[in-house]
Amino acid sequence: MSLTKKTTLFFAALASFVIIALLAISIFSFRHIYLKAAESQARAAAEIVRVHLTESMVNGTIDKRNAFFERLNNSVTGLLDARVSRGPDVIAQHGPGLDNEQYQDEIEKKVIRDGKPSFTLIDGDEGLVFRASIPYKALTEGIPNCLACHKAKPGDVLGVITLNISVAEQRRQAAWTIGSVILVISLFTLGAAVYSLRTARPLIGLATQVQETVERARKGDYGGQILTSRNDELGQIADGMNRMMTHLSEGLTTISDRVAHLIRYNMPPTTNLLDTTISMVDCLMDVSSFKQAIEEDETKDEVYARLSKILQEEFLIDHFTIYEVTSSNNRMNPVIVDGVPDNRCRWCDPEILTRADGCRAKRTGHPVDSVLTDGICTAFSTCEGLAGCRHVCIPVIQSGTVGSVVQLITDGVQAPLLQKMMPFVQVYLRESAPVLESKRLMDTLRESSLRDAMTGLHNRRFLQEYADTLTSYSDRRKSCFAVLMADMDYFKQVNDTYGHEAGDTVLKQLAVILRENTRASDLIIRYGGEEFLIVLRDTEADPAVATAEKIREAVEKHKIQLAGVVIQKTISVGVAVYPNDSSTFWQVVKYADVALYKAKEAGRNRVLHFIPEMWDEKGGY
Ligand code: GH3
Ligand code: MG
Ligand code: MG
Repeated sequence: MSLTKKTTLFFAALASFVIIALLAISIFSFRHIYLKAAESQARAAAEIVRVHLTESMVNGTIDKRNAFFERLNNSVTGLLDARVSRGPDVIAQHGPGLDNEQYQDEIEKKVIRDGKPSFTLIDGDEGLVFRASIPYKALTEGIPNCLACHKAKPGDVLGVITLNISVAEQRRQAAWTIGSVILVISLFTLGAAVYSLRTARPLIGLATQVQETVERARKGDYGGQILTSRNDELGQIADGMNRMMTHLSEGLTTISDRVAHLIRYNMPPTTNLLDTTISMVDCLMDVSSFKQAIEEDETKDEVYARLSKILQEEFLIDHFTIYEVTSSNNRMNPVIVDGVPDNRCRWCDPEILTRADGCRAKRTGHPVDSVLTDGICTAFSTCEGLAGCRHVCIPVIQSGTVGSVVQLITDGVQAPLLQKMMPFVQVYLRESAPVLESKRLMDTLRESSLRDAMTGLHNRRFLQEYADTLTSYSDRRKSCFAVLMADMDYFKQVNDTYGHEAGDTVLKQLAVILRENTRASDLIIRYGGEEFLIVLRDTEADPAVATAEKIREAVEKHKIQLAGVVIQKTISVGVAVYPNDSSTFWQVVKYADVALYKAKEAGRNRVLHFIPEMWDEKGGY
């Protein structure tokens, strides 16, 4: 309820209470006063009647008593009627008297019986009438002595004097007086109320404006000002409030502009400034700890996993794909799909996996938003279980090119929400970009340090790093693995005859043959110049020798096209098995090398399995 209403109601209630109380008190008082006056008047008149009748009896003029009553009625103001009724004793002694002198009603009978006066107020045809019935008693004191003529005892009731006195005039005067007082009080209360309201109005106005300004600020609008031209305390409060609102508005605008600039967010003009600023600062805080975490992550996969967790837990996005782009071969690899490491191309035409430019976000380097433009990307292929689904694909730029693409999927209902989240998601992606870039670079460097550039096979360093993994895997599974050491026979001749480049070609082709004749799970290492080490996993000696033989035959049969000439080469292979031949990995490698040496010794182009006899106790062969 407004303050004005409250004040008005207060005055109305106060005025009503005062008027009602005054009315009640006045009515009661005035009634009491005029009844008492009427009673006194009646008693006085009754005494006059009694004295006059007694005198008349003494003087012998009692028979003219009717004329007396007539004069009395006419001369006393307000007296309507006065009469005397005889009591039973007087009637018995002196007869019934005149016509109207027999006792008449129950009131008079009661007065004669009890000897007590009766006073009643009658609201009848003649207006308000005060009726008094007063006993006429036999007295012995004074002159005349009633007992001289009446057979009565002192104090006996001889008759009743009844008087009807009009009090209508008194009542009218009382009503008029009360009315006047009430009117005066009402006017006074009204005046006081009007004056108070007029005095309180500026205060109420100020309070209302302060309330409205605060309410606007609560909704994010800090532009509210209090309008007043007063120079008193109220004016000072308004000025102070206005200055505070201006300061708050400017300060908040500055903060939000700077934070928006930091996260590159184009704030819509109608948003709640405070709420948006809080969201942006929250986002900045979260992004800051996110960045710190990913910088300390070891691999890019950990970064992708953390990003995926943010999408799921922070933005509540269930369906998304994080693609990694390999620009060198124009490929895209899904790394995380819907929160789990996966390489399925769930939402797009799989063609983009082998032709990355088919992905619009990758090709253009701009976000692709199907919430804004439905059907914008032709490579988006399915909506699997999501009614009216939409996608937003955001390229993540690394070293000036698109290094990753994050694809967010939503159903039609959630699409506008997804768009609202976009600026905040992009902040995370921007922060991830340099970290992903450096992690990928490190991966590439590491990978290249573990590979042989010419054949693309892993190198000896890789084997050194991987040896422990191999043996512990084998120990855990209680399985064995074979090590094949292969060396090309008379390879130097190729170099000497056809040149070093021809030698390289031969080595590259040998690498292809080795790959073709082993399983994907097997390891092929370029161990030395033209020496190759092959690890056959979960393989016993016999199948290992068989595989080595298969390779040897494949090499033997292979025709190598060199510039203007076709040549054929052979290899020799030594085989040893872990843990059968030795429980130490490098000893097994050594034994394979020993077997290779023996194969060379035995005439080359052959496979030999290591036997302990090949290794003399003195550590030589
Ligand atoms: P053997 O049958 O005893 O193995 O005779 P071989 O001629 O193959 O002798 P050896 O294994 O000692 O010769 C290795 C040669 O391979 C020496 C080196 O010039 C050559 N070589 C090593 N690495 C490369 C390479 O990357 N490219 C080329 N073209 N030649 C290489
Ligand atoms: Mg050789
Ligand atoms: Mg050699």
